[in-house]
Amino acid sequence: MEKKYLYMDWMTDFHCVGGECPRTCCGKWNIALKKEEIEKYKELAKNHPFGQKILEAVDEENSCMKQCDRRCVLLTEEGWCKIVLECGEEYLSGTCTTFPRMIQEFGDVLECMVEIACPIVAENLFGSKQIGFCLEELDDGTDEEPPAIDTALYDALSFGRSFLIDLFQKYDASCNAGKVYVLFSAIQAVKERHGKGELSREWMQDWMSQWNEKNFAAVLGAVEPIMKREELKAVQILQLANLLASSQALEYMLVDLDDSGLEEDFARWAQDQDDFKDKLCKFCRWQNLRYPLAFENYFVYSLFREWIPHEMNMERFGKTFFVRIVMWCIIQLCALSVWEKKGDVTVREYAMFVMGIDRTLSHSDLILDEVARVLENEKSIAKVLLYLI
Ligand code: SF4
Repeated sequence: MEKKYLYMDWMTDFHCVGGECPRTCCGKWNIALKKEEIEKYKELAKNHPFGQKILEAVDEENSCMKQCDRRCVLLTEEGWCKIVLECGEEYLSGTCTTFPRMIQEFGDVLECMVEIACPIVAENLFGSKQIGFCLEELDDGTDEEPPAIDTALYDALSFGRSFLIDLFQKYDASCNAGKVYVLFSAIQAVKERHGKGELSREWMQDWMSQWNEKNFAAVLGAVEPIMKREELKAVQILQLANLLASSQALEYMLVDLDDSGLEEDFARWAQDQDDFKDKLCKFCRWQNLRYPLAFENYFVYSLFREWIPHEMNMERFGKTFFVRIVMWCIIQLCALSVWEKKGDVTVREYAMFVMGIDRTLSHSDLILDEVARVLENEKSIAKVLLYLI
């Protein structure tokens, strides 16, 4: 069957560094197993000397691998997988084989990417290259018909996503607030249109066409005064941190980071808001010069991963982007905390913050809902823009 493969270019460049990984994916997470995989290990145990050891490592009740000190029990000290060493890669579970690769299937289109929950992937955000995409048509060697989808909806959303990705990549970091304004306006407009059952590619094309250079310049002019209200911004960010801390969402978000010291820093920053404001301004200037594409790459990645919701469930449409703003804000605060102490944040340090927060948030609906709930009263676009660091 002929299929279309839409790739993010990070995917073809990615290589797992295995034992060299600063935070292996075999630690801290539960590695999920399918029923058939557990059955396969039971079969293996009948005729392979290491099979019994694998079975002992399986938590059948919770369908996952057991952990010890928050690491998979089959992970060696050097970071290698004992299943691969003893039995070969063909016995790895689907989760371990696939991660951090991710494929979303929309009819005959397969969207392929790698996730920033892997620190080596996250390092791409801080490079000097914009994210690229390529489309290939390939025969998957089967006669299987792709699952039926609402192709008109996919087409409309896909057009909107390409437009937004272009917009994020076309302008530099000084336009970030304008890009986010257009993104949130688009979410609102698409939701309304879809609610009326009138979302189509033509409408999307028409709606997006209003964002020509002249109108986008007008948006930038309108959001600039908001972004210049640095005192308000400092207060708003500290308030957000307090809100997240009081709902435990902040604790969840930081759970996968080593001692970031962020909670203590928040307490210190909150005591002298003027000082915090000055630090924030200096950090932003430094960050824009050192990593000019980081914000753009983070949102282009998010657009590709999340603009078209999983299984095209429009109930979820747009929800993650408010949370992404908060995630980026927390990532930046972690970076600010390091920068304050050392005057620099390395690519590896940044990537570890991105990975840690992403592992917690984008893989848990519970936490996503909790952060969304905290943000319920913050839906005015002007207020959300104040979180942009
Ligand atoms: S997190 Fe990424 S680089 Fe590290 S072990 Fe997993 S796949 Fe490999």
